[in-house]
Amino acid sequence: MYQALENRYQEMQYNRVGHSGLKLPAISLGLWHNFGETDKMATQKETIFGAFDMGITHFDLANNYGPPAGSAEENFGRILHDDLWRYRDEMIISSKAGYYMWPGPYGEWGSKKNIIASCNQSLKRLQLDYVDIFYHHRPDPETPIEETAQALDLLVHQGKALYIGISNYSAAQTKAITKVFRALGTPFIIHQPRYNMLDRWIEDGLTDVLADEGLGAITFSPLAQGLLTNRYLNGIPVDSRAARPDSPFLSPDRVDQTIDTVQKLNQIAKQRGQSLAEMALAWNLQQPTVASVLVGASRLSQLEDSVHALDNLTFSAEELAAIQKIVS
Ligand code: NDP
Repeated sequence: MYQALENRYQEMQYNRVGHSGLKLPAISLGLWHNFGETDKMATQKETIFGAFDMGITHFDLANNYGPPAGSAEENFGRILHDDLWRYRDEMIISSKAGYYMWPGPYGEWGSKKNIIASCNQSLKRLQLDYVDIFYHHRPDPETPIEETAQALDLLVHQGKALYIGISNYSAAQTKAITKVFRALGTPFIIHQPRYNMLDRWIEDGLTDVLADEGLGAITFSPLAQGLLTNRYLNGIPVDSRAARPDSPFLSPDRVDQTIDTVQKLNQIAKQRGQSLAEMALAWNLQQPTVASVLVGASRLSQLEDSVHALDNLTFSAEELAAIQKIVS
């Protein structure tokens, strides 16, 4: 039976999400990859227990994580019930709806029908009465934002979600839905966008909206799916995401295109006495609206490396300029 470490809260830093009452660990664990049906249960458990022992209290899921879709929630639900249940109130568990989940007109996007049904399915797979944060996973160009916002608000009133978030919304879309949430009194507190040294789109308007509205961000793929680590410095390992046939989101071509940039960034990380992953996360956490970086990990040792980012979060102006020059 897993027993959490006594000193698990000693090293982690907890940041407030916008102007809300919620604090998240500076580093959170995402279960998009590595927690599906074909991933070893022993490794999944070791990673989740190890994360919790390091003060990582936040675990991020979505209806479609796996593969197959739904299996990450099922696996996490099982682990939670078998081994972590007594720590439930020390954990922030999130899920999402919006991407394709089942056939027909109600299996994706942002209608009330989709969001309510999908959340009910997620709660069943997770074996939970409520999640701490429930997200709309991507904006729906066809459904009125009022309907999507009302559906999310209803989940809060039904006691199925404590806080509401959105993901992949542009600055303008964020502004528009924030207005609706404000009118409804919804505890909408967080945005989950992609952000890393190779993809800085959020700096072009979104971070201003978040700051103005008192919202926080949790950034996904802060390591660019592993590109911003030592993973590909010497080729493409067979057990890496870029080589996995069930992971179409990071191609070997993308590794080839970025390797020169990554090698140069690695030199700066070395001069700072950090691994490239540590520097990439520290860089992300400099952004004032970012409360947490949402990392993935195929093994515990990667997370153990990543949390060392917290040992050096400051950058000199020269370092920032050098990074800027390399990535632009
Ligand atoms: P990362 O950018 O953190 O990439 C994770 C991958 O990087 C790992 O699987 C591993 O690759 C490698 N890695 C991690 N740490 C290290 C390390 N210290 N040293 C060397 N390699 C390392 O994030 P993800 O792309 O996995 O996304 C994280 C989470 O964000 C997801 O699980 C999900 O919760 C969320 N997300 C949300 C999205 C949304 O639309 N809202 C979209 C995408 C993600 P390898 O597997 O090769 O070992």
